[in-house]
Amino acid sequence: MQPFSYTALPAKVVFGFGTRASIGDEIRALGARRALVLSTPGQVQAAEELSAALGDLAAGIFSEATMHTPVAVTERALAAVSAARADCVVALGGGSTVGLGKAIALRTDLPQIAVPTTYAGSEATPILGETRDGAKTTQRTLKVLPEVIVYDVELTLGLPVAMTVTSGLNAIAHAAEGLYARDANPIISLIAEEGLRALARALPAIVEAPQDPQARSDALYGAWACGVTLGAVGMALHHKLCHTLGGTFDLPHAETHTVILPHALAYNAAAAPEAMARAAAALGVADAPSGLYALARSLGAPVSLAALGMPREGLARVVELALANPYWNPAPLEAGRLQRLLEDAWEGRPPASA
Ligand code: NAD
Repeated sequence: MQPFSYTALPAKVVFGFGTRASIGDEIRALGARRALVLSTPGQVQAAEELSAALGDLAAGIFSEATMHTPVAVTERALAAVSAARADCVVALGGGSTVGLGKAIALRTDLPQIAVPTTYAGSEATPILGETRDGAKTTQRTLKVLPEVIVYDVELTLGLPVAMTVTSGLNAIAHAAEGLYARDANPIISLIAEEGLRALARALPAIVEAPQDPQARSDALYGAWACGVTLGAVGMALHHKLCHTLGGTFDLPHAETHTVILPHALAYNAAAAPEAMARAAAALGVADAPSGLYALARSLGAPVSLAALGMPREGLARVVELALANPYWNPAPLEAGRLQRLLEDAWEGRPPASA
């Protein structure tokens, strides 16, 4: 066993079917009485249903959550917190809504209950990315870690299949990079493998039968495991490239992760053979990069940056940005290799090692 250091993150997790019925008890257990329910405009109906079920414990709804957690939206949400005299927030939705809850907690110290409806995993991390005038900043602080996560599989049954697939592959990316993190540790690596196993099993089954409760349950469980990995250990080249592509070219979050992942893993394969072997075994494939590329294709996911609207002439800029302020990475970062990685991803070719 290699030496390691591991800090567990405090959070209560409630997982199951119909668990949203326990949110009232969780609010009371936090010592709170007036919850502001957060959602995106698209999920306002679900927020209204939750608010109605909470009765007197619901102090209002703020339904303007949006991608990239813009500070201007957070400021409007803070006004809603004050107007409602809220003493906790309940974030019902994907990474965007959970991000808004975190941004509120950062500024108010209000406790949060996250009720995730995608597989992004933000609910299990002490990480907050925010944007102000288009510029993104990311910070890691326990102040933003939700106190309680209520996973209700029923809320994910209607997640559209295309979003399910890319969101699931976004989760897989957290676990895959976690296995070769500089600060990897044996506990988190086990959790990462478990996340990979659960999602690799669940995603094909969901494409086959989108409302299959067992497959949906496995996927949400896998998403939690992958989110725990993201929250506990550092990410590398894959996440750096995705943040750069998302932040600079406004590419969609989960789809970008889906396209880049096989290529980033191929880039690191020779430098992280043990992590690759563990990832491949957990995914049930012979080779992790080519296996993930084949999985994405078989699930009908996008496999090219071109299909996401990335301009080819922007690739050199991404290389520049990735090298200017790099994350630690198992393989050395070289401009020529990075350019080839991005060109393969732009074209939708199989990853280099395949
Ligand atoms: P999202 O939250 O933006 O959701 C995408 C759309 O899907 C939204 O319109 C949402 O309302 C809708 N939606 C969500 N769940 C649904 C459901 N069950 N049924 C129908 N529609 C549903 O997307 P996301 O991929 O979950 O999150 C992406 C954001 O989260 C990005 O901004 C990313 O940076 C952030 N993120 C942060 C972390 C972190 O640790 N800080 C981790 C992962 C992602």
